Amino acid sequence: MNRRNFVAATAAATAAPTQAQQATPVREKPLRGDNWGPLHYDAAEKAQVDEVVDTGVPFRFSGRRGVMPVKVATYEKEFAAKIGARYALAVSSGTAALECAMAALQIGPGDEVILPAWTWHSDCTAIVRAGALPVFAEIDETFNLDPSDIEHRITPNTKAIIAVHLQGNPAHLDPILAIARKHKLRVIEDCSQAVGASYKGRRLGSMGDLGTYSHQESKTITSGEGGTIVSSDPELFERAVRFHDVGSIRAPHSEMLGATKLSPFVGTNFRMSEFAGGVMLAQLRKLDSIIANARANAARVYEGLSQVPGLRFRNRPDPAGELGSLVFVRFDSKAQRDRFLDLMRAENVPANPPAGSVVLPIQSYIENKIATHPAWPTWTSPRGRAIQYGAASCPRTIDVLSRFAGIPIGPKYTRQDLDDIVAAVRKAYPAALKA
Ligand SMILES: *Cc1c(COP(=O)(O)O)cnc(C)c1O
Repeated sequence: MNRRNFVAATAAATAAPTQAQQATPVREKPLRGDNWGPLHYDAAEKAQVDEVVDTGVPFRFSGRRGVMPVKVATYEKEFAAKIGARYALAVSSGTAALECAMAALQIGPGDEVILPAWTWHSDCTAIVRAGALPVFAEIDETFNLDPSDIEHRITPNTKAIIAVHLQGNPAHLDPILAIARKHKLRVIEDCSQAVGASYKGRRLGSMGDLGTYSHQESKTITSGEGGTIVSSDPELFERAVRFHDVGSIRAPHSEMLGATKLSPFVGTNFRMSEFAGGVMLAQLRKLDSIIANARANAARVYEGLSQVPGLRFRNRPDPAGELGSLVFVRFDSKAQRDRFLDLMRAENVPANPPAGSVVLPIQSYIENKIATHPAWPTWTSPRGRAIQYGAASCPRTIDVLSRFAGIPIGPKYTRQDLDDIVAAVRKAYPAALKA
């Protein structure tokens, strides 16, 4: 930028907009808030699916006419290498991955698991379906577990913490892992909304005892439905594998482990098909370029907003490791945030309250403790009967979520789209503070 442009740009950023500028929206037509997932499908995914159709080998554990299934197995190898874990297991969903994690850690009736009050249902349902008790902790301005709200919730029955990395943003892992070590608790990293993101140079999911991922349509890479679980602990991995395949273990997992240690136990079927495995393989091979593109797009928006007086983003424990799928702007009150959302709508640029997860303690089935059977062990134990959920149990989580506006950064946004986002926020933010 030459000096003259710089002076003009600075003046434009600081001068109050005239009424005419205020009245003309930044964009004539609304910017589409496009989603992730299938936007990156091309000939690579198509070729994988075609191959499964042509060979007639859709099941990962048996071949036909000399053709052996390799897609899911290859995907698992490449995924483990990408994340930096010893083992990966592909399953049918992110929810299935979490249930495998519960089984791997032998979490069951009488156990307690700490999780954030704002996340997707599955983190809680996996705990409840294991018969254990969900104990919610508040989130902080990372939108993830507040490390200072964990320790006082630990009891002699606490077995694990689920650290969820929401909306592409890593949680404060170092303090969370330190608390877990101090109290001998296991850590599951739920990376469903942050597939491929990292914390201090390491990929999310490789630092806890187990990492789980979703490949549902709205996530970073997708086969419509799908999930993966990683671990570097052979015993935890064997238990996860057996749980996902009715208690049994077959090649290639038995070969991967060398010697198996466990006897069969009650499991289920969460196996991935070769169709999903092929699509995931093609998607995985694009993961780094998908993320590089997202980060570059988000960087342009962060940069463009860096000089706006008073403007703050959500707390990012490792800005370089964040995925860049959304930029969140902080406000002091819900009234200001809501006014900002209205003003952005008037500029035809999308901005929304935090979405994609739910405040779990206020969900009716949790607040009223409703499982599949009235004698479900989660809520018939003395602790289960005593615990209180509802809005009063997570006031800080509700407050944080009411004060942030999220601006989606679509993977296919053009430079003009990104510059329009910056221009719209520069107009709307100072005006919203007057609310
Ligand atoms: C999407 C999601 C899941 C569940 O994944 P599914 O593949 O939909 O079962 C679990 N946790 C979080 C945080 C998610 O966003």
